Formats: sequence, structure tokens, C-alpha cells
Amino acid sequence: MLSTMQDIPLTVTRILEHGMRVHAKSQITTWTGAPEPDRRSFREAGERAIRLANALRDELGVEGDQRVATLMWNNAEHVEAYLAIPSMGAVLHTLNLRLPPEQLVWIANHAADRVVIVNGSLLPLLVPLLPHLPTVEHIVVSGPGDRSLLAGAGTEARIHEYEELIADRPTTFDWPELDERAAAAMCYTSGTTGDPKGVVFSHRSIYLHSMQVCMTESMGLTGKDTTLVVVPQFHVNAWGIPHAAFMTGLNMLMPERFLQPAPLAEMIEREKPTHAAAIPTIWQGLLAEVLTNPRDLTSLKQVTIGGSACPPALMEAYDKLGARLCHAWGMTETSPLGTMAHPPAGLSPEEEWSYRLTQGRFPAGVEPRIVGPGGDVLPWDNESVGELQVRGPWIAAAYFGGVGQEPLRPDDKFSDDGWLKTGDVGVISHDGFLTLTDRVKDVIKSGGEWISSIALENALMAHPEVAEAAVVAVPDPKWDERPLATVVLREGATTDLAGLKAFLGETIAKWQLPERWSLVREVPKTNIGKFDKRAIRRQYGDGELDVVEV
Ligand code: AMP
Repeated sequence: MLSTMQDIPLTVTRILEHGMRVHAKSQITTWTGAPEPDRRSFREAGERAIRLANALRDELGVEGDQRVATLMWNNAEHVEAYLAIPSMGAVLHTLNLRLPPEQLVWIANHAADRVVIVNGSLLPLLVPLLPHLPTVEHIVVSGPGDRSLLAGAGTEARIHEYEELIADRPTTFDWPELDERAAAAMCYTSGTTGDPKGVVFSHRSIYLHSMQVCMTESMGLTGKDTTLVVVPQFHVNAWGIPHAAFMTGLNMLMPERFLQPAPLAEMIEREKPTHAAAIPTIWQGLLAEVLTNPRDLTSLKQVTIGGSACPPALMEAYDKLGARLCHAWGMTETSPLGTMAHPPAGLSPEEEWSYRLTQGRFPAGVEPRIVGPGGDVLPWDNESVGELQVRGPWIAAAYFGGVGQEPLRPDDKFSDDGWLKTGDVGVISHDGFLTLTDRVKDVIKSGGEWISSIALENALMAHPEVAEAAVVAVPDPKWDERPLATVVLREGATTDLAGLKAFLGETIAKWQLPERWSLVREVPKTNIGKFDKRAIRRQYGDGELDVVEV
């Protein structure tokens, strides 16, 4: 028997129309470096998105599922592109502006991007790539930046000014009837080996994921909130926040290119966002800033922190500043929201703490399983360690294979029975809370026993004089592998490595303590800003690290 319900496709178009009408007065505030930020209502941004869609179709000839790329900071125009491009049936391709040039070229060619919308300030990055981007026919430049760079750029592409292009266009659009399973947006993830992998989000997956983002047990975003969107719009759709905002009327505060700790602190004090989202390294940097130049962060009722493990010490430090961090886990392939760490009801603050430190609880839309080394599915007992696999309506089933090509389903990422192999290792509790110990590729196997690099890093970063710490496996003749700790000390630190090892020994079993240590000025970071453990292992292998035996 079929249901008697209406079968209305879940589309980004619906999100756009709802947000600009029902939440017309909600605002996108973009930090511009001027004394007053740029403020734009959802009504205005929505109308501008529709004008952009008209311009893309009528002036640039965008049709069907052609890819329109963005090389942009977090700002109102980028939100307009987020809404316009999928609504007209085209595919939004967000380019990661921190990727090395050769990867950007590879990705734009693989996706066969036809248009690139670029912030003027990023022209120095784009212009040298243009001779290598034969599919790009149009470049649309938005915001301040030196246009003269485009003269003699070695491209046949036509150049447009964003504001001129959308001016005088209609504020209505005869939206196409879209299949909710059609591609809406895409984002490449650079794995540790091989070419980058394209994850293609559908209208349906974006819609359902956005609803999850708004749920109280998730980010709980409402029209009464303002979110500081630090997570880049090129990193998995800014974790779904712009779409969620147009669903609920959530106000957005966009930092543009002002991502350094000092301007972020100023933004929080002045604009008083109630929520923010970013990876731990951003919050580490901001903490160091406000400890030296105090700022009021107490407006932040909840900060979503994820992308890599949140050290407990960081959570404690923000608790003291009156801003509450909430740990989340996810990945590009999971849209990205997988888990969020809201403790269950009725617990004391101490009991709550043990839940807050986990990666979080799975929502109904993300079904998990833990798979042991022999392929057996392990119990949810908070002890059985294995690889996390997930499935659900906003979880990738394959990677983009290229235009006209079959999707890719590499064995190490997708199981035969339809689960995504996350490459993360951990345990699940009986009530569905995930605790990660490592990445499959980062595990330290010492004498046949696993040592958790995350546990060592968390313990190290609990030392008040440690700014950053990353632990990797290095080869060892006796134990196969042993941990190597790389540590960045805070300015004026007085401790030495023996002191650090003794500190670690207070919470970590003796056989797990690293004997190889290296004091570094900075832990290398990936293009998303996470600790780059592959780079540390390479530095160690190439003898670039000053390693001391302690
Ligand atoms: P990406 O696709 O670049 O966002 O990377 C996803 C990966 O980041 C995951 O597979 C995890 O290894 C890692 N990750 C994300 N969130 C967390 C977290 N809360 N704790 C530990 N690792 C995380």
C-alpha cells in the first residue's frame, strides 16, 4: 500500500523561497574591515540570488547540471551563490582556496567547471591557474581586488563584474522541476593518497541534513540565534549552516578573510553571536588571543567544534570564559554532520563531562557500526575498538567519477553491503555515543597493542604551557611502532621535555609514553587547518625534525 502523502521534492529551491519569505528580516552580516560590516536581509540576499540565477542563465548560458564553481571567502555573495546555483538546477562547486595550485587545477578540470565566481581578493590565486582551465568560459568577480591582474591572464574566458551582472535582472525565476536526488553541490576531499575525491550532495541530502543541523540535539539553530560561521564555505557546505539558516531564520555572521584570532575576537565581542562553528585549531588560536587581550565571549551559548578531536583542556578553558564548546564529528562524505556531544538529561556536571568529551551521539539519520579487524561487527559496549562505518540519507555512496564516467567506489571507502568506511577508529557506548581513538592511517601499533594518538595529544594539551601537540607513529626496531610527540610550547614556557613526559605519566600508562620528542615552532596543518600527521611522518622520515630521546 502506498501512502496518501504528497510527494514534494526536497530541494534547495524550497529552502531559498522559504527563507527569503518567512525569514525575510533575518540577516547576513559580513565583516569587511570597514568600521561597519555589510548587513543584508534574507529577503535582499534571496532576491539577489534570484537575480544571479537569471544572469547565469540569460547572460552566461548556464544550463542543465553544469558546474558553477566558487573561489570565495565566507560572505553574503557566497550565500547567494549557494542558493542560486542549485535552485536553477546547476551544481555548486566550492573550491578550497587553501589547496595547492596543481590540485585546484585538477579539481576544476575534473568537475569541468564552466563558470568561476571569485572574490577579487583571491584573483592572485586564480589568475595563474586560468591558462590551465580550458572548461572555464566565464569568470565573475565579486568584491574588492585588483582587476588589472586579469589583463593578459592567458584565458579565453569572459570576465564579468558580479554587481553589474546581477543588476537589473528580474527578481523572479521560473525554477525547474528538480528531482530531489539530483546533484546540488559538490566538494572535493583530498585523501592521503591518490587524486582528490569529489563528493556530490543531492538536494534531498542537503535538505534532510539541514533539518538535522537545526535539531536541538544537534546544533539547535533557531531564528533567535546568530552564528559566527568560521568554518569555510568550501569545507562541506560550511557544515550545512547556510542552508539551515534559510530554514530557520538563523542570522549569520561571516568573517570574510578576517580569520585571524584578533578580528574574530572583536567580531564576537561586537556582534555577540550565540553560536559559532570551527575546527579546534581556530579555537586554540582564539584562546591564546583572549588570554592576552581579554574579550567578552559570553554571548556564545554553544560553539560547534569538530573536524578533529577537541582537547578536553580547550573545552575547560572556554567553560571558564563562559563559552560552551560542543564536540561534533563528521566528514565530507557525511555532509558532514555525524555526531554531536550533548549529554543526556539528569546528570551532574561531573557526569556530563564524560559525555561532552566524546565525539558525540548519532542522530536517527546516521546509522553506525563498529567493524573489527576481521570484518566482524562489534558490540556497542564502549570497549570494542574497530573501524567506524556509517550509512544514511546524507552519507555518500560513491565518489564522482568525472563527467560522463561511472561513480567510483573504492574498496577502502565503501563496503559491499552499502556502508561508508570512515577510516576512523573508536568505540560506541550502549546509548550511541562515539569515542574516537585514531584514524586507521594514524594508529600506533606498539608490540601488537594500540596506543591512541588522540588520547596522548589530549593529555599533552592539558599542560598549561603546551600550545599544540601532535603524536604520530614512527618505526621502532623492537616494538614495530612507537609514538613520537611533537610539541609547540607557549611563549615564556619553563617546562622541559622530561617535565612534559612526567606530566603525561600522571594520566597515561607507562608503556604508552613516548620516548621520542620534538619541540617544534608549529605543527604542520592541512588545507583545512587540521594537524597534518602525514607531513610530520614525512619530516621525521627525512630527518627534518630535531628529535630528542627522553
Ligand atoms: P574532512 O572530510 O576533511 O572533514 O575530514 C573528516 C575526518 O576528520 C574524519 O574522518 C575524522 O578523522 C576527522 N574528524 C572530524 N571530526 C572529528 C572529531 N570530533 N574528532 C576526531 N576526529 C575528527
